[in-house]
Amino acid sequence: MNVTVDDDICRGHGVCAALCPSVFVITDGGYAEAITADIPEALQSAVIEAAEGCPEHAIRTE
Ligand code: SF4
Repeated sequence: MNVTVDDDICRGHGVCAALCPSVFVITDGGYAEAITADIPEALQSAVIEAAEGCPEHAIRTE
């Protein structure tokens, strides 16, 4: 699984970082970033939960 955060859509709520801190961090600029794009199997359900929980639908998985 690959994950990306759309910088143009993200509003920095931090829901993703709260739900899956192993993958999402809030940068100094105040927006989310995925610290790894290639998600290991063990974290995939948490990443999907974060993507579904993002109020802006800024997280893309494939
Ligand atoms: S929950 Fe969505 S909008 Fe909020 S910081 Fe994470 S990616 Fe950005």
